[in-house]
Amino acid sequence: MKSLRHSIIRVGLEAIYFSGAHHVLRSIFGGAGTIFMLHHVRPARDDAFQPNRHLEVTPDFLRVTLKHIRDLGVDIVSLDEAHRRLTTADLSRRFACITFDDGYRDNRDHALPVMREFGAPFTVYVAGDFASGHGRLWWVALERVIARSEAIDASIDGVETRIDASTAEAKTAAFAKLHEWLRSMPTDVEVAAAVSDLCRRHHVDEAAIAPELCMSWQELAEFARDPLVTIGAHTMSHCNLAHATAEDAEREMATSRSIIQTKLRLPADHLAYPYGDRLAAGARDFAIAAKVGFKTAVTTRPGMVFAENAGHMMALPRLSLNGNYQDERLLSVLTSGAATAVWNGFRRVDAA
Ligand SMILES: [Zn+2]
Repeated sequence: MKSLRHSIIRVGLEAIYFSGAHHVLRSIFGGAGTIFMLHHVRPARDDAFQPNRHLEVTPDFLRVTLKHIRDLGVDIVSLDEAHRRLTTADLSRRFACITFDDGYRDNRDHALPVMREFGAPFTVYVAGDFASGHGRLWWVALERVIARSEAIDASIDGVETRIDASTAEAKTAAFAKLHEWLRSMPTDVEVAAAVSDLCRRHHVDEAAIAPELCMSWQELAEFARDPLVTIGAHTMSHCNLAHATAEDAEREMATSRSIIQTKLRLPADHLAYPYGDRLAAGARDFAIAAKVGFKTAVTTRPGMVFAENAGHMMALPRLSLNGNYQDERLLSVLTSGAATAVWNGFRRVDAA
C-alpha cells in the first residue's frame, strides 16, 4: 500500500513537472521562503527493507538541493535571519532555511561538509535525551526488530499475535502494521512499553541506538562551534506533545531549551515539535512554545512560509526532503510551492 501511495505522489509531482505549470505557479505559491526538513544525511544502502528511508537523503542529493536553491536566486539563511525578515517584513528576496531533526551524527559527518561547500547556514534540532545517550528512537528499534526476525511476536491489545516477516515485502507490511498500532497508542508510556517488549522478545539492544546514531553533548559542543550551525530544541524525550499534559509539554520544551543553554553555552531560540503533524502538536502546544520563549517553532505540516506566517511564528510549516523522492525534477515542483498549495487546499497559513 505504501509503495502504491509513493507511486501516486510521484505521478502527481511528475504531472506538474511535465505540464511546466510549476514555473508559473512559483510566483504565486512559492511564498516568502521555505524551511526544509531533513533527518539523516548518509550514503544510500541497498537493503530491500528500509521502512525509515523517507528520513534520509544522500550527501549528493543534499548538494543537488542546495545548488537548486541557489540557482533559483534564493538566499539560504539561518533561522535567526528568517525570523528577522519575517518580523520586519523584509521579504523582497526569497529565503530558505535548512533544518535537520534529532541530532544525528551523520549530520556532522555527511551534511556539514556539503553545507560548508555552499557556506550555507543550517539548524540541527536536538532532543535532550538523545544527546544524553538514553533516549528511545522507537522507529529505529522497530526497524531492527523486524529486520532480524522471520516472524514478529507481539502482544497486540492483550492478544498474542504472530506477524510474518520472512520476506522484504512481509517486513514492510509488518512495519506498517506495527507502526500504525504504536502511533495509535494514547500516550508515549504505552509506546515505550510495547517497543521495549518487542526488543526483549527479538533481542534488540534498544538502549544502544541513541548513542550509536546521535551526537553526544560533547560532540555537539564541538559541532556547534562551526559558525554555520544553529542548535535548536526538540524536547527532551522526543515525545508526542499533544499526548502530554500541558505541564509535561511545558517541561519538555523548557528543559530542552535550558539544557542546550547549560551544556553548550548557546542560545536555544528555535524549536521543532517531535513528529510535528496535527496529531502531535496543536494550538495548545503553540501557545506553550511562545510562553517558553522561543523565537520560532516548526511543525511538519507541509507548506511554504508566507508573509502572513509572521503572525504565527510558533506554527511554521516545512517542506520535507523525503528520501523516497530524491529526484531533481521533483525538487523543482516542490520548491515552486505548487505541490503544497494543492495539499493545503490553497490555504496559506495553517496554525490552528
Ligand atoms: Zn524528531
